[in-house]
Amino acid sequence: MTRLIFLGPPGAGKGTQAQIMAEHLSIPHISTGDILRQAMKEQTPLGIKAQSYVDSGDLVPDQLVQDLVAERLEQADAQSGWILDGFPRKVTQAAFLEELLQTTGQGGEKVVNLDAPDAVVVARLLSRGRKDDSEEVIRHRLEVYRHETAPLIDYYRDRHKLLTVNGDQSQAEVTHALKATLENRE
Ligand code: ADP
Repeated sequence: MTRLIFLGPPGAGKGTQAQIMAEHLSIPHISTGDILRQAMKEQTPLGIKAQSYVDSGDLVPDQLVQDLVAERLEQADAQSGWILDGFPRKVTQAAFLEELLQTTGQGGEKVVNLDAPDAVVVARLLSRGRKDDSEEVIRHRLEVYRHETAPLIDYYRDRHKLLTVNGDQSQAEVTHALKATLENRE
């Protein structure tokens, strides 16, 4: 049973690598960013509530993402493992997840910290061209990452769940490093 949380700054390649590993392991890739973008595209109540936060690079309120994650992890395909990408993004969300996994008996998760320097992630994000990838919004997202999300590195290290992979390599090299790290983790 594999349950993984992908952590790292925007642009570190979390989404790409999470997708590759999910296919490799035949488990769902659950990206809160993807789910929110889909909801915004369809203008669902969730999408409408999330829009202004996502557009300005702020975190959407905990309750919104926590509800969507709790619901997603209940689905049948998530019972044989999952990769969470983009959640948790702050300590309050991590505490929520810890309790949720305890209640539902889905423990044993590992956290992959995909690390890359600021200059690298900014360059990657600028070339990606998503709507929330303007330079100003990118800088804000990095700031939010540093203040809210980076503390999760210590949070999970303290809980002996943290694995670190260097994201500042080619996509194939990151995949290779990731597989090696996951295979040696026990
Ligand atoms: P990236 O990894 O490039 O930063 P994501 O696709 O993970 O982008 O997230 C895009 C946006 O969706 C974030 O900037 C934020 O507004 C919102 N979002 C995604 N996940 C969360 C979360 N766990 N908590 C709050 N907001 C979130």
